[in-house]
Amino acid sequence: MSDTIFSRIIDGEFGTEFIYEDDICVAFRDINPKEKTHLLIVPKKPIPSIMEADESDEFLLGHLLFVCKKIGEMLKLPGYQLKINVGEHGGQEIFHLHIHLLSKF
Ligand code: 5GP
Repeated sequence: MSDTIFSRIIDGEFGTEFIYEDDICVAFRDINPKEKTHLLIVPKKPIPSIMEADESDEFLLGHLLFVCKKIGEMLKLPGYQLKINVGEHGGQEIFHLHIHLLSKF
């Protein structure tokens, strides 16, 4: 399994503010936001990318999407985009699975 900057953020090494946290995942602001709101929803389990997820991760993957919905409601966002970069050839830079939540609001 990968050990990336996201594992260190999840471990609290940098005191990053979590917009959301539960047993399975955290959400925090992207350091280089591409929109007014740009959050990263990251599972605590360090799966490198969707390509490495297996059947046992099915619940986790669904949970991440449901957390995006909850965050959208929490922040009262009228709309947003969800984006997952998958693999080196899919534009992924940090090899710890994450969903980008992007909104102009
Ligand atoms: P990827 O290209 O892997 O889908 O996206 C990685 C994202 O992580 C990028 O948008 C980048 O700005 C963000 N990022 C990289 N390092 C850090 C960091 O140390 N803290 C935070 N909050 N975001 C980071």
